[in-house]
Amino acid sequence: MTRRRRVGVMGGTFDPIHHGHLVAASEVQAWFDLDEVVFVPTGDPWQKADREVTTAEHRYLMTVIATAANPRFNVSRVDIDRSGRTYTIDTLRDLRERLPEADLYFITGADALAEIFTWRDADELFDLAQFVGCTRPGYEMDEETLRAIPADRVTMVEIPALAISSTDCRARTQRGEPVWYLVPDGVVQYIAKHELYPATETPSTDTG
Ligand code: ATP
Ligand code: MG
Repeated sequence: MTRRRRVGVMGGTFDPIHHGHLVAASEVQAWFDLDEVVFVPTGDPWQKADREVTTAEHRYLMTVIATAANPRFNVSRVDIDRSGRTYTIDTLRDLRERLPEADLYFITGADALAEIFTWRDADELFDLAQFVGCTRPGYEMDEETLRAIPADRVTMVEIPALAISSTDCRARTQRGEPVWYLVPDGVVQYIAKHELYPATETPSTDTG
């Protein structure tokens, strides 16, 4: 008897994608013996915490570069090609339609998981996928959120702590500091080539 296909879904802004994302996806892939993990960059236009998010096409290509070497990692354009703001419910509905034969595992960090309960259609979300909450350094889930999590639909997974965030990678680039080894080599080079995350202020040339 053939087993149902298991597909992990890793949604994110990926501005830029970093090794925290990749390790989380890899751990969950192994843990649940997933056939595939699909990375789904969020669409444009989109405002995140008052900042301009990098064009979807750049974020998509960085995600492709970062995942290219892993035969179980793929990237989907479902959120990029849908217009308007990205909601996880739409991501899962679209993927469900494209992969009717698969069981979906939605992979999220602890911070994003806590937000799920404020999302639209939370009940339907749990019907569409199993949720996998990854521990993330600096994010402790409060008791109330933990209690609200339906134990049969959400599994918490402890992954090796990598205190890497896209926010920090952008800030480092803006300050002219390296992001080598925080993001894959190809992503370091992509950021430099396309001059993503430029310094907001020009450094003072005043030497006096
Ligand atoms: P930003 O700082 O811009 O919010 P981010 O580093 O949080 O970026 P996102 O694209 O927002 O990256 O995250 C996508 C998903 O990956 C979320 O579910 C998030 O919780 C998870 N994630 C991000 N970084 C880590 C990490 N270091 N360890 C585990 N999970 C992570
Ligand atoms: Mg985030």
